[in-house]
Amino acid sequence: MNDLMWILWGALIACGALLLFMLLRTALLRPPKETENSQTPPLPDLDESILAAHLSEAVAIPTVSLVSPDDDGRHFLEFHAWLERTYPALHAAAEKTVINKFSLIYRIKGSDETLKPLCFLSHQDVVPATPEGWEAPPFGGEIKDGYIYGRGSMDMKSQLVATVEAVEYILKHGGTPKRGIYLCFGHDEEVSSEHGAPYIAAYLKERGVSFEYLIDEGGIMADGNILGVPHTIALIGTCEKGYADIKLTSKRDGGHASSPKRPTCLGLLAKAILSIEKHPMKTTFNQPTKELFRDFAPYMRFIFRFFMANRDILSPLLRAVFTLIPMTNSLVRTTFAPTMATGADRRNVLPAESTANINVRILTGDNSAGVLKHIQKTVGKNISAEITNVTEPCPVSPTDTPQYRALTKALKEVWSDLIAAPYMFIAASDARFYYGLTPNVYRFTPFKYALSDQARIHALNERCEVKALVPAVAFFIRCIENSCMD
Ligand SMILES: [Zn+2]
Repeated sequence: MNDLMWILWGALIACGALLLFMLLRTALLRPPKETENSQTPPLPDLDESILAAHLSEAVAIPTVSLVSPDDDGRHFLEFHAWLERTYPALHAAAEKTVINKFSLIYRIKGSDETLKPLCFLSHQDVVPATPEGWEAPPFGGEIKDGYIYGRGSMDMKSQLVATVEAVEYILKHGGTPKRGIYLCFGHDEEVSSEHGAPYIAAYLKERGVSFEYLIDEGGIMADGNILGVPHTIALIGTCEKGYADIKLTSKRDGGHASSPKRPTCLGLLAKAILSIEKHPMKTTFNQPTKELFRDFAPYMRFIFRFFMANRDILSPLLRAVFTLIPMTNSLVRTTFAPTMATGADRRNVLPAESTANINVRILTGDNSAGVLKHIQKTVGKNISAEITNVTEPCPVSPTDTPQYRALTKALKEVWSDLIAAPYMFIAASDARFYYGLTPNVYRFTPFKYALSDQARIHALNERCEVKALVPAVAFFIRCIENSCMD
């Protein structure tokens, strides 16, 4: 054999050994043994039709976010009165505080004040809706074909109602919890939370409140087959991406459009935007994504498990695959979306200045300074880039803690085949304002919606399946029972 043959044989044997090693790792990646007693107490006896009627009533009160705090807020007051009428045990037991006219804090004192209370967040406001294109009026609260239709039935009066129902149930059936409970309901989450959540958080911080853990909207419950996991999966948001707007400005001599001097102001700006699209930031599997792989991988079908078990070796390939789909691309990198642009205000005028806005969602692990540096380098010195608006990514809430385990335990008690994993929530929630009150901030919506129904949020025919209500309320009851009762 000549030298080349030796090299080829050597390479072949090395590849074979590597493949064998990768297969062995895949075979050894098995689900952890259940250590806890799988005997779970029976789920609470809840009346689905009463829960549906309550959500329907809540949806029928059109608490559309107020653009200005001076706008007519009577629907929010109507909503507060409805809460008071519908949940008498809560209103008898809780201390209620109103913040900035419409946001609400309910505090149920625990019998042991040395224990930190639990906190459930929701927002009362909804985005607007007009009746065109709806199968039922958006503020009718109509129940048909097993669904409650209407704006807010998913985002997020369903969750608000579920938490209040759970507390009402506990107060009626279980008595005083030993650990306290807070319900905090902002009123302007859909319009950047300018007057709600940050003021609630500041009010509580001033009073020295800190929480055991906190649950806000977010996350997904779905059929896991899309990820090769033959179970119901629950994604729990342990952080959320940051947000920034970057303004690009191009300046050239203006003038008449009949004799343009190249490059033009808009031409330069267009080139800069194209360059940003061609040069995205680098991809990475950050901490929450690695934790997601860690927790789902042992349950995956073989081929998915093969890639997950060997993700250190196959990482470049995996990251490349993730970038092919917009949803998974946003999990592995900071994204740039050009959203607005300006030029001249006449058709025949060359602008002396043109601007564009790049909306940026900053990956947990990156920061706005790094993003600005990347953009400025990409667009070159003829274009100036400046940040006009920024929220840095949130810290990552821990998962190797009794608090996270309490949450996942409650989940498994309600959905026995469920597998939970942490992940990075790619939108924004009120939860980001509460880090001063607890490091254990989780985003989770305990409603299993069909994936196609997710597209109804903020869109036409938003609806909540009636049969999703009992498990959701049971989940919050279990959280309270496991953490707050003897
Ligand atoms: Zn929401």
